[in-house]
Amino acid sequence: MNDKRDVMYKDLMINILRIICIFSVVISLDSCAAVEQSEDKDSMNKVVKTDAEWQEVLTEEQFYVTRKAGTERAFSGEYWNHKEKGLYACVCCGSELFRSDAKFDSGCGWPSYFEPVAEGVITERRDFSHGMIRTEVICTRCDAHLGHVFRDGPPPTGLRYCINSASIRFCHLAENRNVE
Ligand SMILES: [Zn+2]
Repeated sequence: MNDKRDVMYKDLMINILRIICIFSVVISLDSCAAVEQSEDKDSMNKVVKTDAEWQEVLTEEQFYVTRKAGTERAFSGEYWNHKEKGLYACVCCGSELFRSDAKFDSGCGWPSYFEPVAEGVITERRDFSHGMIRTEVICTRCDAHLGHVFRDGPPPTGLRYCINSASIRFCHLAENRNVE
């Protein structure tokens, strides 16, 4: 009799554990979905302004480069030879784009990086201007023209993001609390 009770008790415990397991899986799946949703929302947080509004907050050169897909002269920008540790953010919307530890000396006269700070912060677009086929890179959040990406970069990515200094703003790591 006691044995039978024991078996029933064990069965009951196993069933309870199963239910707890199923619940915890459902809960963790739910929280993943919530995180994904909020990330989606963040990336959709587009910044849209008229030319006149951009002109109010940008210098003439920043406006020409970022909003009219211009290019600054090689070796003329603020950051081609800039070596401080920190982050480079979009000059238009402040979206973080590149880390200083992904910057390398390409010798081309524009700041060059082998990867962006995170997937999705930069959008690529085919550019057929000036009789060339290139890949333009723009800020995902505000569509600012940043420069181009080429496949002649160093390891680990083999990419060279050739970026106009006029499209970015440097900030020291200490000023940015989001960075580990
Ligand atoms: Zn931007």
